[in-house]
Amino acid sequence: QAKERGRNNVCVFDPTLQASILSQTGLIDDLRQAIQRDEFHLLYQPVVSPLQQPQDWEALIRWQHPTRGLLAPAAFIKLAEESGLILSLGQWVLRAACEQLTHWGRVPATAHWSVAVNVSARQFLDPAFAARVQSVIEGSGINPSLLRLELTESMFLTDIEKSILKMQSLRALGVQFALDDFGTGYSSLSYLKRLPLDQLKVDRSFVQGLPGSREDAAITTTILTLARTLGLQVVAEGVENKAQFDFLLQHGCSAFQGYLFGKPMSAQDAASHFPPARQAIAGSE
Ligand code: C2E
Ligand code: MG
Ligand code: MG
Ligand code: MG
Repeated sequence: QAKERGRNNVCVFDPTLQASILSQTGLIDDLRQAIQRDEFHLLYQPVVSPLQQPQDWEALIRWQHPTRGLLAPAAFIKLAEESGLILSLGQWVLRAACEQLTHWGRVPATAHWSVAVNVSARQFLDPAFAARVQSVIEGSGINPSLLRLELTESMFLTDIEKSILKMQSLRALGVQFALDDFGTGYSSLSYLKRLPLDQLKVDRSFVQGLPGSREDAAITTTILTLARTLGLQVVAEGVENKAQFDFLLQHGCSAFQGYLFGKPMSAQDAASHFPPARQAIAGSE
């Protein structure tokens, strides 16, 4: 059957499709070498409190491609998943994020900052996932409770029992879990009471329409109520203006992320963008 499909594919000649396949093939080869060539870096976006103080930073990967320029995850994460390269890339991200935690941990004013790392489905579903994460944590010596892993609803479509066990074993070390892009996937609400989660992240697509859209307002306030009842923290993603922020504040949201507070930035800029409080500096001297 594969032969048949192969033959069919050869018959279809679509120059644009072929060009895109070729450029993707090139990209896979590049991706293979990019880790050794040190072409990736992490940016950090603040997650702030109602007083707009950063408490947490989401690590977001970027690829400085030698000829294509700076690439956002949309340009290569899917490819990394399909090729299996996400396993080593995911390890690189975890190591880099833990290294950053170690640096921030040495400065009293930033020692309480935590870091959230995005995990892809293929990475999470890998049987060695929990062991891999544990080995990075132990290798870096970080406080595991400052590491939060962001999962998405689609990961729980298969084998939820195994997923729960995986999460529990990491949670026993202190690692936290967030459910990213909440409301956009296919999860049944019954998962929510079973998954050992700490945080729900309301997807940007719902925040976008606030406060004007009745639908987005209804969905967002329902998620906020649901989270409060379940004892989960809520982060609103993609907050871009004050009207959205005010609406979320009024409805009891306690953590916010979006361009209004800060775009993804280098770790260096993170510390200067939010200069440590005066007392904290005095206290450290
Ligand atoms: P995400 O985890 O939902 O991350 C939030 C995305 O929204 C980021 O895009 C961020 O730059 C963008 N964003 C934040 N605030 C705003 C805002 O106010 N307005 C708008 N329009 N956008 C905002 P980015 O960095 O391009 O990442 C896209 C996605 O790629 C992430 O979505 C995540 O799913 C994935 N990703 C990023 N880094 C990694 C990684 O290290 N590993 C894996 N597996 N996936 C990653
Ligand atoms: Mg995320
Ligand atoms: Mg998100
Ligand atoms: Mg999102």
